[in-house]
Amino acid sequence: MQKLVAVKGMNDILPPDSARWEWLEDKVRNLMARYAYRNIRTPIVEPTALFVRGLGEVTDIVEKEMYSFEDRLNGEQLTLRPEATAGVVRAVAEHSMLYEGGKRLYYMGPMFRHERPQRGRYRQFHQIGAEALGFPGAEVDAELILLANALWRELGLQNVRLELNSLGQPEERKAHRAALIAYLEQHQDVLDEEARRRLHSNPLRILDTKNPAMQAVVEAAPRLIDFLGPESLAHFSAVQAILSANGVQWRVNPRLVRGMDYYNLTVFEFVTDQLGSQGTICGGGRYDYLIEQIGGKAAPAVGWALGVERVLELLKEQGHAAPVPVPDVYAIVPSEAAVPLAMATAERLRAMGLRVQMHAAASGGAGMGSMKSQFKKADGSGAAHAIIFGEDELARGMVTVKALRDGAGAQNEQPLDAVADWAPLLQSKG
Ligand code: ATP
Ligand code: MG
Repeated sequence: MQKLVAVKGMNDILPPDSARWEWLEDKVRNLMARYAYRNIRTPIVEPTALFVRGLGEVTDIVEKEMYSFEDRLNGEQLTLRPEATAGVVRAVAEHSMLYEGGKRLYYMGPMFRHERPQRGRYRQFHQIGAEALGFPGAEVDAELILLANALWRELGLQNVRLELNSLGQPEERKAHRAALIAYLEQHQDVLDEEARRRLHSNPLRILDTKNPAMQAVVEAAPRLIDFLGPESLAHFSAVQAILSANGVQWRVNPRLVRGMDYYNLTVFEFVTDQLGSQGTICGGGRYDYLIEQIGGKAAPAVGWALGVERVLELLKEQGHAAPVPVPDVYAIVPSEAAVPLAMATAERLRAMGLRVQMHAAASGGAGMGSMKSQFKKADGSGAAHAIIFGEDELARGMVTVKALRDGAGAQNEQPLDAVADWAPLLQSKG
């Protein structure tokens, strides 16, 4: 039979690597709580129209990256979410969550985009995102940037730089757009096919091009920031003033435009040079018009999303040691007769908070296996102690506790009827 394998661009996350994921997720939960962001979980499948309306029809995602299909019973057009902001906004509108004021939310989970798989770019990948809805002020833009920054600090991530821009308001963008189209039309000969196609539909995205042949033209193009009015500029400086007061460094990148149509005012990216061309680990900005665009009651909003694979890859690149989960105790069970009592004891230890790995019979082996092979397993598990459930000791109501790491070899007998007295000493602090 042909071997079944995972879908191209979609990865299994296996131990021990999955411990890194759990470690990161724990850090995120803890940090979000300190910023008073609450968890939201929305469906992975949404109506296709949500993304078409939300992200914009001429974006990369909607044009070519969505996994869309028809519900075979009712013909509904559905899509595996390529990002989560649109779903969060849908949920917020659907449940009138802003009725009593703004909400700060975060999520974690898989996203799906049909892209060419390569380092840092997959078809199923994972994002962690934070969204603040119902708040118009620059202080929330800054709060979200500080939150991301605090996460890099807590993860021990280095060499991440912040790029900042303002996309202004729709009216300002319109004026800039006209100037940009006029300018690009004068340089038609240099534009590649994609740029020419986008010239009248989404010219701002042309500024985002990675085509080296177009760099000179793109660099000299009219800058959106020069079209911003006093209010937009004031919002932008207010964000920067808060960042300054918090010792955060940034660079204004007038060409930073982001992939989705829904952004206005502040946009930002956290970028590294250590991941090749997939160097953006986190991106976000303000999206004050999205809620209305998908049919909700107008409300301001701002948020970001980070790519979990890229963040983990960068940590690895920077020599960050992976956390290794290790049991406190490996339970050695010389004979099958001792199994029930050994397992009952293991249950008690676990209820007390100890991490206990039970020895179990291996396939093809004879019974529980030799003591030698059990001790080898115990050593391999990384446990600091073994508890040996030998028949002689059990007959006396005792077990043997043996040190496997510090003072390896030292052993003593402990009474089973006083587990609560001695077992806590076997628990690691970590
Ligand atoms: P890129 O320019 O790299 O395609 P993007 O602008 O499409 O990124 P966003 O939609 O802003 O990315 O998503 C936020 C973050 O999610 C990105 O900064 C990146 O870290 C991560 N990300 C996006 N697409 C992928 C993917 N296909 N595989 C892995 N991570 C991704
Ligand atoms: Mg992309």
